[in-house]
Amino acid sequence: MAVQVPSRQLFIDGEWREPILKKRLPIINPATEEIIGNIPAATAEDVELAVAAARRALSRNKGKDWATAPGAVRAKYLRAIAAKVTERKTELAKLEAIDCGKPLDEAVWDIEDVAGCFEYYADLAEGLDAKQKAPVSLPMETFKSYVLKEPIGVVGLITPWNYPLLMATWKVAPSLAAGCAAILKPSELASITCLELAEVCREVGLPPGVLNILTGLGPEAGAPLASHPDVDKIAFTGSSATGSKIMAAAAQMVKPVSLELGGKSPIIVFEDVDLDKAAEWTAFGCFWTNGQICSATSRLIVHENIVREFLDRLVKWTKNIKISDPFEEGCRLGPVVSGGQYEKVLKIISTAKSEGATILSGGVRPEHLKKGFFVEPTIITDVTTSMQIWREEVFGPVLCVKTFSTEEEALELANDTHYGLGAAVISNDLERCDRVSKNLQAGIVWVNCSQPCFCQAPWGGNKRSGFGRELGEWGLDNYLSVKQVTQYVSDEPW
Ligand code: NAD
Repeated sequence: MAVQVPSRQLFIDGEWREPILKKRLPIINPATEEIIGNIPAATAEDVELAVAAARRALSRNKGKDWATAPGAVRAKYLRAIAAKVTERKTELAKLEAIDCGKPLDEAVWDIEDVAGCFEYYADLAEGLDAKQKAPVSLPMETFKSYVLKEPIGVVGLITPWNYPLLMATWKVAPSLAAGCAAILKPSELASITCLELAEVCREVGLPPGVLNILTGLGPEAGAPLASHPDVDKIAFTGSSATGSKIMAAAAQMVKPVSLELGGKSPIIVFEDVDLDKAAEWTAFGCFWTNGQICSATSRLIVHENIVREFLDRLVKWTKNIKISDPFEEGCRLGPVVSGGQYEKVLKIISTAKSEGATILSGGVRPEHLKKGFFVEPTIITDVTTSMQIWREEVFGPVLCVKTFSTEEEALELANDTHYGLGAAVISNDLERCDRVSKNLQAGIVWVNCSQPCFCQAPWGGNKRSGFGRELGEWGLDNYLSVKQVTQYVSDEPW
């Protein structure tokens, strides 16, 4: 399917600007390995311009600037962005699919979620003014106190490639709703739709500098943003390794950070389940978006009494997954995002084999696809808890399996990880589900499902999966600082 990739520049101060060093990076279609365009590559020089533009947006005209305007004014722009995104839904979805390899109809859902997220934070921006001056009750009548919630200031937003526009939106929408000015640095592996978001902002007349978008490499564009003294906060989604570097850079200036990092999430399947339904959720939970989901439930912990029958059905499910170019009708699994990711996934599978695990199904490129970074959905058994496949995030369509006999053992296996992002439990015993949910060390627990995500509910992890929460009201709080104002109200001398 022919998709025209627009040629864009960096978006700084409401205008398209060529990168100062004039560098560009190729865009590779992961389904064909062809170069289909290029993106501008920002460096520290461009970061300087973007940060200065964002600062100006917050001090342009006191009382009417982005930070101090009524929430309803900001909401109007967010709604206009949502409307434009909806208007361009099909085109944006095609650009997303060709850039990161996800099936076209999944990309359409992502773009719908993008519009929904902007709408949601428009509602919260409108509600923000009414929540100002929230009184605090004090033990002494001689004092009165209230709380003001104020935008943190200029924020740097650094995002990954698996849901390029949606992950950016999870940060852009709440930060703008809060009254911050932002600099977005999307992943160099999938930036097309984020540059189109810049065009959308231009079209709706978003005031200059409120949102600046710098594409480019992590060390060249992301690192100078993270360490910039005039950036008040960094919100990051990506790998734990990069998250730790960002935290170190931010620590130099005692700058707040929120980190949404990797995971190795478990799914526990008890013996009382409907096997077909459980197999469907297990396959969905690990192979959706090619397993390139931070919260993919990629460690299956299944009761020993049902393991044989369950794995038979699971393998059948995976055989029905159509693997093809994302634009083909009925595609359920596209390529992984890049050549580098493809090599990494195959290497982890071969290490599992050499460590003694069994590749029950998949583990290879599908025979019918000669080009593109395709990997079959892979199920690995005979896994021990010391193996790399059990401990490390793959970020590809690979599920590893262990069995259990008691609830305690299942929990021990589930919590046997440095990560703490998602977890799922499948059982018909809802009391057991409650008990297990409480004892799982994760920021998100799914019961009798895996992966559904709503912009109203908090998202984020524990342990090495990061800290802070996105989405919902928690997402807005990420970009607000709390000020206490306390007044002496007595006529008596203190
Ligand atoms: P990554 O860490 O390689 O890159 C993420 C972003 O950081 C990119 O924009 C990259 O250019 C930038 N970056 C790289 N080095 C940098 C540096 N030194 N300083 C500043 N910025 C730098 O991650 P990725 O490969 O793009 O994404 C996959 C990872 O993201 C996985 O680990 C996945 O679990 C995680 N993820 C987490 C969530 C979540 O909500 N917790 C969601 C999606 C993805």
